[in-house]
Amino acid sequence: MDRAARHKMMHCGVAITVALAFQGAALAAAPVNQDLFARATQARPEVTSLLERLVNIDSGTGSEKGLDQVGAIVAAEAKKLGMRVDFSSAAPAVGHNLVATLSGTGTARILLMAHMDTVFADGTAAARPFRIQGERAYGPGVMDDKGGIVIALYAIRLLQQMQFTNFKQITLLVNTNEETSSKGTVKLIAALAQQHDVTLNLEPGRVADGLVVWRKGTADLQIDVKGKSAHAGVAPEAGRNAAMEAAHQMLQMATLGDDAKKTTVNFTVFHAGERSNVIPNAALVRGDMRATDAAEFDRVEQGMARMAEKKQIAGTEVSTRLVRGMPPMPATPRTAALAARAQAIYGELGMKLTMEGSGGAADANFASGAGAATLDGFGIVGGAIHTEDEYAELNSIAPRLYLLTRMIMDVSTTPVPR
Ligand SMILES: [Zn+2]
Repeated sequence: MDRAARHKMMHCGVAITVALAFQGAALAAAPVNQDLFARATQARPEVTSLLERLVNIDSGTGSEKGLDQVGAIVAAEAKKLGMRVDFSSAAPAVGHNLVATLSGTGTARILLMAHMDTVFADGTAAARPFRIQGERAYGPGVMDDKGGIVIALYAIRLLQQMQFTNFKQITLLVNTNEETSSKGTVKLIAALAQQHDVTLNLEPGRVADGLVVWRKGTADLQIDVKGKSAHAGVAPEAGRNAAMEAAHQMLQMATLGDDAKKTTVNFTVFHAGERSNVIPNAALVRGDMRATDAAEFDRVEQGMARMAEKKQIAGTEVSTRLVRGMPPMPATPRTAALAARAQAIYGELGMKLTMEGSGGAADANFASGAGAATLDGFGIVGGAIHTEDEYAELNSIAPRLYLLTRMIMDVSTTPVPR
């Protein structure tokens, strides 16, 4: 069955479940909030038209004009919701990060995060503007992450329509440089995450309609080998072959990966020698490490230093380096409890979220690294991310709006333990 057909079936499933719940049929899930689901369903045309406006502005990372235009639209929408809007420089990245806040009458502090930058160059929106085909919308950044921005704004709108104010503060951060590792936003993310009880990141909702419950952290690896040059024909024995030693080190250090712990070690760059008849006196290897557990970075760092002592070619010098990048967002009992709450909410619609992990890092890593209870994937559902076929499932707008709105209500009413 193709995805469109499956989604149509899911959509029917929602309608049937809602009807059954209405009739008081025996269901394991809590009853759907009919009022909210009706409002989420009615919001679709407006959500779609705001999505269209945002997609039709090129806002690739570094494209200042487009980022400013998107920021201005988001600011105007947030102000319509009575939110206070602040912009701050995203230096060393381009543009201005937007922080919109809304105060309520309760105690919970909830951080929503999305990003306005895309991976697409200026001119893309004109070349292939927003379009709808069947139940899918297409265009640059339609799911990643303009879909996330509109879901966040409309969830807040639905809360207001429901006159739900039982939170202390809802904060929406819209980042200008997520696609290039958020160098201009990482401090802001960490500071805001620490000031809130829970962080819900609005990266796309995955192809299979899921949440992201863990993400790997990253590190760059380096092996430096010093050897001794010699003529490869006349006196190879006088040389100390740095390339051969580097190859040996690379192979033994690659065993530091650990499948059971989802730790990967991949050496990806190798530089040594200039001429085939010269024994090379230096070699440089670089690699990529990913792990879901921060302790793994320590283990691999120590393992590399220990293995560097085990040389194959005497007289070479080997030094290693591990440079930590983004912190991991690990699966913890706290995130599992949050994910279970999201699953229960989706269950009210007769729907099921897939719980996924990703080797790719995102802003949720920074929030989690700052100690915040963090879940990701609250954006719009779609696929073909970062390609010209990127799409958003329009059928996901109502259930995803329902999910985020109810999630905010839920964590407001029953606090997330810090
Ligand atoms: Zn994204």
